[in-house]
Amino acid sequence: MQSSFKKILEGYQAFRKNYALGDQSIMKYLSDYGQQPKIMVVSCCDSRVDPALILQCDPGDLFVVRNVANIVPPYEKDDAHHGTSAALEFGIQFLKIKHLILLGHSQCGGIQALLDGHDENKNDFIDSWVSLVKLDNVPTHNVDNYAKLALNRSYENCLNFPWIKDKVANDELRIHLWFFDIENGQIFAYSDIDKKYKPLDLNTF
Ligand SMILES: [Zn+2]
Repeated sequence: MQSSFKKILEGYQAFRKNYALGDQSIMKYLSDYGQQPKIMVVSCCDSRVDPALILQCDPGDLFVVRNVANIVPPYEKDDAHHGTSAALEFGIQFLKIKHLILLGHSQCGGIQALLDGHDENKNDFIDSWVSLVKLDNVPTHNVDNYAKLALNRSYENCLNFPWIKDKVANDELRIHLWFFDIENGQIFAYSDIDKKYKPLDLNTF
């Protein structure tokens, strides 16, 4: 426990050196000119799935919202507090990002909780949250296959946000479905043409 905390203190020192010190630093630039990310990622809270690390990004490259099981909730304009939807609005409407990546992953604890079934004594919020991607008549109870199907539900939810739907229709925004396999550290991108997930490489579009 102590060693992992020491690790982050040392990591912070390295961050300061690499990104923040000096007049030419990335942080100074981003402070002077503001953030202009072109890519947004919806990813899971899972400690093994950090988009900025997996994609080797610098500060300012990615606008990220993380939640349990990387879910895009339905478009619900009501008085409830919609954190993920607010992040989507900020990224898409105000930062005008061009690519929205929905990043699922293998061994997802949130999806596993959904497959394990609801027990009202078990938790306060998790079951209710992951029920957003509960799918009827799904032929699989494999957690990884289910996680991929859940990405489709999130994708459908995206298109119910009017400003997302408009931007996709006008080619101002592209939505990507990606799946990160933890064991191999490999991303698979859903191909609309082939209707299946294929390894992400430099030619993926
Ligand atoms: Zn997860």
